[in-house]
Amino acid sequence: MQRIISILLLLAMLLALTACASPAAAPDAPPEESSPVDSETEETPEEAPPPEEESAVQQEPYEILDPTVMPEGGVRDGVTYAAWDGIVEHLFFHPVVAYPELAFDGDAQANGIDDYMVTVGEYNKILQSVYENNYVLVDITDVWSETTGEDGQPKMVRNTLYIPEGKKPLIFSYDDTNYYPYMLENGFTYKLVIGDDGKVWSWGLDPQGNEVTSRDLDAITILDKFVEEHPDFSPFGAKGSLSLTGYCGILGYRTQTEKENQSAAHEENRQKEREAVKPIIEELKRTGWTFGSHTWGHINLAKKSLDVVKEDTEKWLSEVGELVGATPILYYPHGARPDGDDVKQTGPIFQYLQSKGFRVFASVGINSYSKIKGDISAVICDRLHPDGTTLRGSDKVQSWYEQFYNGREIIDLTVRPQREVHWQS
Ligand SMILES: [Zn+2]
Repeated sequence: MQRIISILLLLAMLLALTACASPAAAPDAPPEESSPVDSETEETPEEAPPPEEESAVQQEPYEILDPTVMPEGGVRDGVTYAAWDGIVEHLFFHPVVAYPELAFDGDAQANGIDDYMVTVGEYNKILQSVYENNYVLVDITDVWSETTGEDGQPKMVRNTLYIPEGKKPLIFSYDDTNYYPYMLENGFTYKLVIGDDGKVWSWGLDPQGNEVTSRDLDAITILDKFVEEHPDFSPFGAKGSLSLTGYCGILGYRTQTEKENQSAAHEENRQKEREAVKPIIEELKRTGWTFGSHTWGHINLAKKSLDVVKEDTEKWLSEVGELVGATPILYYPHGARPDGDDVKQTGPIFQYLQSKGFRVFASVGINSYSKIKGDISAVICDRLHPDGTTLRGSDKVQSWYEQFYNGREIIDLTVRPQREVHWQS
């Protein structure tokens, strides 16, 4: 009996792994840089017909800020809360490298991981440093609200954040927290699970193939633990925003449909995976995590047609949004802006995405730029990216990050590939 169960388990795992064995997706390069891991390899439903408008999935309206999330000013429990109208900084990560010896083993993925990821050790140092630099976590969905403008049209406004005096607000987001097959082979954790204590843990295999359940190897559980140990780092209970694609499922669970000819066995496994991920989503939400879309197929919004974007968005909403709930946040894959430029114009792809409930459109950049658009109810913003490209960056690049940490002290050159750093001093 035991053996049959083992074989069944193995079959289920193989099924899950082959189902989305498409090319590696896809760290997000800053717009001005191109990613060797990314390129044009993402799985895209190119030939699919446009969705039927009638059956289109519609998200719930944008949720107005719950005032209890971020209390008004004044003194409570000995802490003075003061209005903050300055920049809300935003850092984003990819999943972190648990086992550098697997990530940086010289294979085809090694340099891409070096470019776009940080290791567990580096991530721990970054958390400690931003904490010591007086940042406190806020959730991206609390920073802006939708209201009605003087012309009667909906528009976005920046909320006044009341944060502990002397502190500065900081958003964390995490792209591609899907646990893609290429990550499993390259020293990342495999999935999130619920531990015996009811908390979120990661599960995976160490380089020797032993099963490891831990809270010290995954960006999500590490932050959970850090906030448990430093509750003043998250005065409102915020953690981070998880930016999810759909084509390999989510959070390590293979909840995706297949491109075509989906088998009954795949669908049966998919339904099991959908049930299995629900308690993880529930616990993440309960503990301050929120979710955003990273498109279903990690598609490049600067290059795809409106029909492809529609197809992709419907798929994200029905396969991912259905599980994690409505979200106003869209994180551009590859940092690529739609319609040529979303800052200077509001093109048809942007308008379509906005019509599907998205209000905050996040790219990647050299600072935490944000702009409330005047012609449509939406915000565009950039995020800084702690990763190998910036940790190895020039003194100028280092200066963009010095308010958070000293990259020269964060980077672990003892485990990363032997590639050059670009700072002089
Ligand atoms: Zn991505």
